[in-house]
Amino acid sequence: MAAVSRGSVRINVEECKGCGLCVDSCPPKCLALAPELNAYGVHPAHYAGEGCTGCGICFYCCPEPGAITVYRMPAPPRATEAAHATTL
Ligand code: SF4
Ligand code: SF4
Repeated sequence: MAAVSRGSVRINVEECKGCGLCVDSCPPKCLALAPELNAYGVHPAHYAGEGCTGCGICFYCCPEPGAITVYRMPAPPRATEAAHATTL
């Protein structure tokens, strides 16, 4: 069973320079370089659409400001909190 994504990334393909640092640094390997070219003539990074943990490593290693944005999903309520909420 695939792990639930705890984060997501948005890549601005026209800011990306295709260096691949984010691809190499992503622990769950959910980034890759896209087959198509951007306006700079490079292959921009592409998110597979699932598997992101929201760790932010790709954001911190990217040399291009604005090329990659990380979103973290809110944590689901723990079982005890969910049970308490249903009894109120
Ligand atoms: S936030 Fe972490 S898991 Fe998500 S794409 Fe970036 S490096 Fe990969
Ligand atoms: S590290 Fe930044 S510039 Fe390099 S491929 Fe990833 S998003 Fe593009």
